[in-house]
Amino acid sequence: MVRGRALPPADAVTVAAPAAPPASLARALDDLPNVSATDAAEVVERYASDYGGVVRRRPAVVAQARDAAGVAAVLRLAGRHGVPVVTSGAAHTQGGQALGTDAIVLDTRRLAGVEHVDPPTSERTGSFVAGAGTRWIDVLTTTMTQGAVPPVLTTHLGTTIGGTHSVGGVGHTSVVHGAQVDNCVALELVTAAGDVAWVSEHEQPSLFAHALAGLGRLGVITRVRHALVRPPDQVRVALYSYRDRHVLLDDVAALLAADGRRRHALHAVHSWSVHAHRGWLHLLSVTQPAAPGASPPSLGMLRGRPVQDRVAAFAAHVLEGREATSRDWRLGSGAPTVRPGVDVFATPEVSHDLGDTILTRLPDAIRGTTAVLTLFLDGARSGRPLLACPGAPEVHLLSVLPDAPVDTRVAVLDAVRHIAGAAASLGARRYLPGWHELDDAGWRAQIGGALPELARLKQAVDPAGILNPQLPVPGGVTRDS
Ligand SMILES: Cc1cc2nc3c(=O)[nH]c(=O)nc-3n(C[C@H](O)[C@H](O)[C@H](O)COP(=O)(O)OP(=O)(O)OC[C@H]3O[C@@H](n4cnc5c(N)ncnc54)[C@H](O)[C@@H]3O)c2cc1C
Repeated sequence: MVRGRALPPADAVTVAAPAAPPASLARALDDLPNVSATDAAEVVERYASDYGGVVRRRPAVVAQARDAAGVAAVLRLAGRHGVPVVTSGAAHTQGGQALGTDAIVLDTRRLAGVEHVDPPTSERTGSFVAGAGTRWIDVLTTTMTQGAVPPVLTTHLGTTIGGTHSVGGVGHTSVVHGAQVDNCVALELVTAAGDVAWVSEHEQPSLFAHALAGLGRLGVITRVRHALVRPPDQVRVALYSYRDRHVLLDDVAALLAADGRRRHALHAVHSWSVHAHRGWLHLLSVTQPAAPGASPPSLGMLRGRPVQDRVAAFAAHVLEGREATSRDWRLGSGAPTVRPGVDVFATPEVSHDLGDTILTRLPDAIRGTTAVLTLFLDGARSGRPLLACPGAPEVHLLSVLPDAPVDTRVAVLDAVRHIAGAAASLGARRYLPGWHELDDAGWRAQIGGALPELARLKQAVDPAGILNPQLPVPGGVTRDS
């Protein structure tokens, strides 16, 4: 691993006045080695909105680099001319986090490919190294051929590994393994000055810790080294339905408590709520490793109505339905919709209360097309400073994902604003790939105790504030986006 250059002290950093922009920014970028860039209207237009469909920011240029050196060259050129750079993976965000007006949008998807797989053994976890623009579906299918899986997968695998490491990455197995950022071993990071370094728990640990779930504000991630575990050969998948979400949550608490601190008997737990003609129905899915010939521990304490109980080969289970959710959402057909998702980290107590608000506050017109998910995290494993997890042993991630006709936009935004306000008044912080309208006070509350160190790092590695300026660091470098 390349040894990282130590950061300069923040107060020693000076910023040169930007030079006049070149006559054609796209041409200047396109002339850089290993970089392609365009300002063609039809391409630029595709990068003006994200999955959420409510924020619009039209960039000046779209650039792609084939390696870290190409990314460094883009950042140095942007820095010389004072042009903001917004990093974009698969743009699954819902609040414009990967969009920038008049910016260079740096699409990472050419930094793709799994380069190395070190499979786990019975004594130790393994790891893989891949380009940041690699889609998770490609990571999964590659590592599965070597009998290994990443500990945590999110529901949609068309996302890039750089994108989910920049937000957090929470999935069904987070109840055992925490978030993806908790399972990251090292990052290759390019800072605004064009310095390329591997950062980890051992090399520039603070920069590593704050680049994870850091929303691309400290650098562009170009490669990731991430843990691999050996999956069970088979899993038992049990599904229960509940009419009362409180009963479901109490059952989950009992299940986790009975399972003990090491949670051996669980592979994954998640829950979702659907609105049908008789009102809300809440489903709980529990997955356990199932050794051939041996029964998994009993789930008899669960009070829901059993809907399904089956044993499946792990490979079939983990890949089930994944192809459809891995397609590039930009290629979707049909009428455009608005999808301003709201994601909130909550203690179990807050999850009970906020769930009530969500289920009563969703407008009738969109109840049927809104997914309400609850994921569960082992709080003891989720320690990255910018992940905004409450310091509780059991952490819930509530996600409200509306998918509504454009003409209901006002009602949908009104509902998500109300849910976001309720979350804030309960003292909960947000998971930030979703839609948000944070002002200065909101950002301060969101970043919380990590703010002084994040501001110090921002000043040291991006003193002109060219990286993702649409996502501010209060008290640090700011510039108009
Ligand atoms: C339908 C749907 C389901 C989802 N399900 C889950 C789920 O189960 N669990 C979960 O945790 N999340 C979930 N998400 C959220 C998703 O994981 C995030 O939106 C994630 O950021 C997607 O990755 P991406 O490649 O699309 O990133 P983008 O949206 O392109 O980028 C996300 C942020 O990271 C920055 N960024 C991207 N790449 C880099 C890089 N290489 N270096 C530095 N910064 C970078 C961007 O500037 C932006 O701020 C879901 C989203 C959708 C739309």
